[in-house]
Amino acid sequence: NIGEKRPVIRQLDDAAINRIAAGEVVERPASAVKELVENAIDAGATRIAIDIADGGKTLIRVTDDGCGIAAEDLPLALSRHATSKIDGSDLLNIHTFGFRGEALPSLGAVGRLTITSRVPGADAAQVHVAGGKMDAVKPAALRAGTVVELRDLFYATPARLKFMRTDRAEAQAITDIVKRLAMAEPSVTFALRDVSGGGEGRVTFRADRENGDLFDALHARLARVIGREFAENALQIDASRDGIRLYGYGALPTYSRGAAVTQYLFVNGRPVRDKMLTGALRAAYFDFLSRDRHPAAALFIDCDPTLVDVNVHPAKSEVRFRDPGVARGLIVSSLRHALAEAGHRASSTVAN
Ligand code: ADP
Ligand code: MG
Repeated sequence: NIGEKRPVIRQLDDAAINRIAAGEVVERPASAVKELVENAIDAGATRIAIDIADGGKTLIRVTDDGCGIAAEDLPLALSRHATSKIDGSDLLNIHTFGFRGEALPSLGAVGRLTITSRVPGADAAQVHVAGGKMDAVKPAALRAGTVVELRDLFYATPARLKFMRTDRAEAQAITDIVKRLAMAEPSVTFALRDVSGGGEGRVTFRADRENGDLFDALHARLARVIGREFAENALQIDASRDGIRLYGYGALPTYSRGAAVTQYLFVNGRPVRDKMLTGALRAAYFDFLSRDRHPAAALFIDCDPTLVDVNVHPAKSEVRFRDPGVARGLIVSSLRHALAEAGHRASSTVAN
């Protein structure tokens, strides 16, 4: 009977939907760290502590001193497409890292997630969710801010668990994302600690909150994160055109690298990996570097959120400019100008 073989359309339950979404939002422990640290930054934290164990596979704990989540909002924070950051009316005008309301429900679907939080003037509360099942909110003890603890990432999705790399490689990816976020937020203190004793052990990027100057704070943070040698060989960039501002540091050609590893690009504070932007960087140094060398730079593009679409991918590392030519032109012209001012002549024309 053909009727019995006809496919049946069913509505997936929330747990299944969240596991599917988690596949896009949380690729590996480092993406979970990124989501949680971005939440802490969005909450206005000044100090963010990240503790991990076994490359983040068994434990990721992010502690912040931000605004906190009210007890009655905790279940909502864990439900899909619930966010305090946008009202949905203007997807082009986004000023926060988050806006999809997907990270926490996704993490709660693929791991064991405990959120403890406190808002000023109220008691702290805690909620636990594992494999998509949420317990009742209960009272807790916490002075301020939020602690999000994620244990046994992907235990509920064994297929994904198999794709994890070594603890060392996952810890390295976590260090890398924390470094990028630390560069983007020089006024926030970051403390990353590997409590299982592997990885780099402990890295702290301390913010100097006395010093309000953007370039002083950024330069100090880059010296700490990328290294003193980069900072000592970096040219300050600050240029604007057609509503887009480019600032940051580009290294002298003498500090160039054999691989494109020291290239950090940010759009409205988000670390991005974007071919158009790295292409612009290469073009800017084209006349100053031989073909086997790669420029080193940490560059920030700030513009009105309506000029750039960050909604291209759930992990939000891709961006789309309304007018890519302006961003590209700004990178090429301001770096070329700074390099020429610093007295660097076009070397590639000599080399070729
Ligand atoms: P999104 O960040 O896209 O809004 P999330 O699932 O990451 O979605 O978080 C859901 C909501 O939970 C946020 O909109 C925010 O209101 C709240 N939240 C999450 N993390 C924190 C935090 N560390 N401090 C304060 N509020 C938080
Ligand atoms: Mg978020």
